[in-house]
Amino acid sequence: MKMLINGEGRDAVSGRVFPVHNPATGEVVGEAPLGGEDDVRAAVQAAGEAFGDWSAKNPRDRAKVLFFAAEEVRRRNTELGTLLTAEQGKPIREAVDEINGFANILEYYYALSAGERGEYLDLRGYGHTIVRRRPLGICGAIIPWNMPAIIMGWKVGAALAAGNTIVLKPATTAPLTCIRLAEILEGAGLPPGVLNVVTGPGETVGREIARNPGIRKVSFTGEAGTGRQVALDAAPSLKRLTLELGGSDPMIVCDDADIPAAVEGVIRGRFYNCGQVCTAVKRLYVYDSIADEFVRRLKSRVEAIVVGNGMDRGVGMGPLNNRAGFARVTGLVDAARERDEGEIVAGGRTPEGEEYGRGLFFLPTLIAGVPHDSVLFSEEVFGPVLPMATISGLDEALDLANNSRYGLGASVWTRNAEVIARATEELEAGIVWVNQHLRIPPEVPFGGTKESGIGRENGSRALLEYTEEKAVLIRL
Ligand code: NAD
Repeated sequence: MKMLINGEGRDAVSGRVFPVHNPATGEVVGEAPLGGEDDVRAAVQAAGEAFGDWSAKNPRDRAKVLFFAAEEVRRRNTELGTLLTAEQGKPIREAVDEINGFANILEYYYALSAGERGEYLDLRGYGHTIVRRRPLGICGAIIPWNMPAIIMGWKVGAALAAGNTIVLKPATTAPLTCIRLAEILEGAGLPPGVLNVVTGPGETVGREIARNPGIRKVSFTGEAGTGRQVALDAAPSLKRLTLELGGSDPMIVCDDADIPAAVEGVIRGRFYNCGQVCTAVKRLYVYDSIADEFVRRLKSRVEAIVVGNGMDRGVGMGPLNNRAGFARVTGLVDAARERDEGEIVAGGRTPEGEEYGRGLFFLPTLIAGVPHDSVLFSEEVFGPVLPMATISGLDEALDLANNSRYGLGASVWTRNAEVIARATEELEAGIVWVNQHLRIPPEVPFGGTKESGIGRENGSRALLEYTEEKAVLIRL
């Protein structure tokens, strides 16, 4: 595939490409241009030239492009989902869901884009005061590989609806679906240069997006450490930043919870996308009195998850996406085993069998009785491994839940209104679920507190993050 710059499929200035591997088989799925700083500069130039016309358009005309693109994406969801599964690894059902999610996000911003056009202040003595909302200009978008289509949708939907132009960098292990989605937006009427996709490494392409003085805002999703580097690189040009970073979401299961529902909540909340979700359940706290029953039920559900190639029927969990992530997850499990931190109740190893061949498979893993100071709780475990501890009550649960440098999501499972009131008030997180986890419709503002990030995406207020106010005071 080619990059997309100024409406054209282009090779990298370097003339080089990099392969994209299927994590289930190790086979090469495709290749993408090995872009670098010069490619970003070309994209910034194109985005700058496109900005005037695009930002001057009637919002309805911009919105129509999102609408037509959403229709086309949904029409081609199986083809796009297949590509996503091939490069990312997730089961095809999840991949098609994600592609449909991208379409939902575009439609949401289509519907919103006629709103939020500023305000009028009736200030006697100052004349007529209008607060206009103007697009920022060129926006940089840097995205990870775990949910590439959804995260691209969050950034692109809001930025385009607000009248900005974009330079987007996908992750190197899942760039292909993003390129296709950008091509579909162009086919739906996006003028050349409004959305540019530059593929290549974070060290070159990503850093140039963060540094380039022509870019007014960077929206970055990825690890907290990378987010810090992006903030440092963006500081000299004083860019606006949205940082969507890591998470270590706690899930608290109280003694009055609907246990079967909570078990299903863990299965989806932890093992969806092979556990590679920023808001996955990463720390499980269960009240002592129900712990035995909970572990028994959960163990049998975890062991029933069928692991395999995401394209195969009946597969509930695919491989991890990349070797570095695989090494990190297996390293954390080995470290816990060596230090005797908890009991591996299910999984804890790679699956056996020829069909797993060169794939990056790891069994869904449940580790019970994990000490509170274990690295399994303090580090973000970005894979299908769930550490669990028992707790004596709500005070302890909230203390432990909040004892993390992250604050992305959290959930509490109970039917007690007082517990719900306290937990939703005291949990330090950008999103708190009650009797559910991981659900993020396009209408809901999404982002973290503490080291999970700065700013919000998704929801109507995301449009504000892609605009700035201009006050106009008119005396006649
Ligand atoms: P990552 O930080 O390694 O990479 C993210 C993106 O940044 C990639 O495109 C990468 O190439 C690029 N990059 C790498 N170094 C860079 C640099 N110095 N400057 C600019 N760009 C650079 O993260 P990842 O491994 O792709 O994704 C997993 C992480 O993302 C997890 O921590 C997860 O929790 C987090 N995440 C957060 C959210 C959220 O919304 N909060 C959503 C999904 C994933």
